[in-house]
Amino acid sequence: MKIKVLDTKENTHKFVLEDTTASFVNALRRAVMHELPILAIEDVFVSKNSSALYDEIIAHRLGLVPIKADLNKLVSLEECKCKGEGCDKCQVRFALKIAGPCMVYAKDLKIKNKSVQVLYPETPIVLLREKQELDLQAVAILGNGKEHMKWSTGLAFYQRYPKITVNTKKAADVKEGVDHCPKSVFDNKGKVINLLSCDLCKSCQDRANGAIEIDGEEGKFIFTLESWGQLEPKDALKRACDILKDKLKEVKLK
Ligand SMILES: [Zn+2]
Repeated sequence: MKIKVLDTKENTHKFVLEDTTASFVNALRRAVMHELPILAIEDVFVSKNSSALYDEIIAHRLGLVPIKADLNKLVSLEECKCKGEGCDKCQVRFALKIAGPCMVYAKDLKIKNKSVQVLYPETPIVLLREKQELDLQAVAILGNGKEHMKWSTGLAFYQRYPKITVNTKKAADVKEGVDHCPKSVFDNKGKVINLLSCDLCKSCQDRANGAIEIDGEEGKFIFTLESWGQLEPKDALKRACDILKDKLKEVKLK
């Protein structure tokens, strides 16, 4: 299998996979989104909540706050030596004590563990009016996106690599098709100038009376990973590949 990187940004990674199958690429997508263990708030113990939101809504909002941690130092509750009782190796504890009037933000969560941080500190949790208070303890544990999307590290998706055939002899039909391309894939003469923008919508083909053909290349895919930030995209991919390898080993053994 060949891999060619197209674009790398802080939280986005886009690359071409060649000589592979849709099932493999889809397995990789599922591993990235649903199998990687990351940290998220699971339990919230509310001592006081006189805000306008129910305890459950605040707990739900806290669960969705993306948290970055050194994942090599944490283990899941099930695998921990404490046997599920909860300790520093399998849990990260947060405290939130604040009185209104103010907006409560994710940055107001107090964490003892210095290696753990809230990724988007300005995420609003709840608005407190005069004399309203919030006092709670929250516990984050490792989980994966299969259980709940709050443990998903990002969005992974793929498409087939575009293959565009243009019959330049039918200039009028080509022009009609080109005019309906929403992604500016062609110049005004029907020459493909932006192949990778094509998302195979076939708007041009539908209008071009056979002068333009759109298809996906066999065994070639464009894969995009947009991370929420808990893991660097490259790290997430590497971990996803390791998980896939382990799963395949299991199949082999059985
Ligand atoms: Zn433990």
